[in-house]
Amino acid sequence: MKSYRKELWFNTKERYQFVHISRDVQEAVQESGVKEGLCLVNAMHITASVFINDNESGLHQDYMDWLEKLAPYDRNGYNHNVGEDNGDAHLKRQVMGREVVVAISEGALDLGPWEAIFYGEFDGRRRKRVLIKIIGE
Ligand code: ZN
Repeated sequence: MKSYRKELWFNTKERYQFVHISRDVQEAVQESGVKEGLCLVNAMHITASVFINDNESGLHQDYMDWLEKLAPYDRNGYNHNVGEDNGDAHLKRQVMGREVVVAISEGALDLGPWEAIFYGEFDGRRRKRVLIKIIGE
């Protein structure tokens, strides 16, 4: 069995931002040489997500609006905000998820027709990373 590990680094311009990473993940699959296997992609930070959905800007705005309603930014409104102000980011991350696992078939990500992989940042403007772990034959 082959095993391959890679980190993707981000430093988003915005505090809240989604980044399309399907191509980066596919690149890692090629580098791994794995033709049949599994690919795990996870955020390594507790205020960021990795998720799969449509690559459509209206939907992304809907997610941001919805998350802001669920867990609005509020410097003084969270018990967690003692010395930091990212209580909302921890909650947003939990809703959008930590990781995705995608099948690898014939050397490619076996995604559905409208599935795309995104990094979701909720406390950005600093260096953060995503782990890609690939196993298979
Ligand atoms: Zn925090």
